Amino acid sequence: MDILENITKIHAEINEINPLTEIIAATKTRTAEEIKIAISSGFISSCGENRVQELLAKYEKNVVWDFIGRLQTNKVKYIIDKVRIIHSLDRLELAVEIDKQANKISKVQDCLIEINAGKEESKGGIILEDLPEFLDTLGNYKHINIIGLMAVVPKGLSEIMSRKIFDSIYTEFIKFSDTNFRCLSMGMSDDYLSAVKSGANMVRLGRAIFGERDIDATGEKL
Ligand SMILES: *Cc1c(COP(=O)(O)O)cnc(C)c1O
Repeated sequence: MDILENITKIHAEINEINPLTEIIAATKTRTAEEIKIAISSGFISSCGENRVQELLAKYEKNVVWDFIGRLQTNKVKYIIDKVRIIHSLDRLELAVEIDKQANKISKVQDCLIEINAGKEESKGGIILEDLPEFLDTLGNYKHINIIGLMAVVPKGLSEIMSRKIFDSIYTEFIKFSDTNFRCLSMGMSDDYLSAVKSGANMVRLGRAIFGERDIDATGEKL
């Protein structure tokens, strides 16, 4: 397992398709040492954490952190002063809380709206059809700045199917090019090249950077 080698290869591959693509290291379950190595490559724009507790445990001021996992409303207050972008804004209740906590520290929090791309019932996220209305509502919250979309496509899809879904999200994304939209966060270790080909400009990579892991984020054996 060679983190620097992995990142260099990923960077070269992505660079050929779109050199402006940001690589976000998905750092769940990874150690401070692994994260430090990844950052030292110079090709990582931020570290994306899934869980509030883990982010707080690993937090270091001079590292850029994003929040990429499902966010419980009552935990927003712990991370609001620590994150660059919240990628997983997926419901109004969460927006209300982010706005409230950001207001308290006079911050305007950059957020991406999470799209439930495969319309999976078990997943969070807004379905594409509901996006315009959701955005309209969010316009009322002055301490939230919506800068784009985030999506996770269902596991195990063929490349053709995942491209179809990524394309449909990109098509929606560019409809908002007259707003503050600038980030399209989609693509993980199994499908990041497809995502970048479809117009993603942020990919969130865990296994492709750090290697496979045999425990999940809760410590359960996979
Ligand atoms: C874990 C995770 C990733 C990275 O997953 P890999 O398949 O390991 O690249 C990306 N996005 C989110 C929201 C994640 O939880």
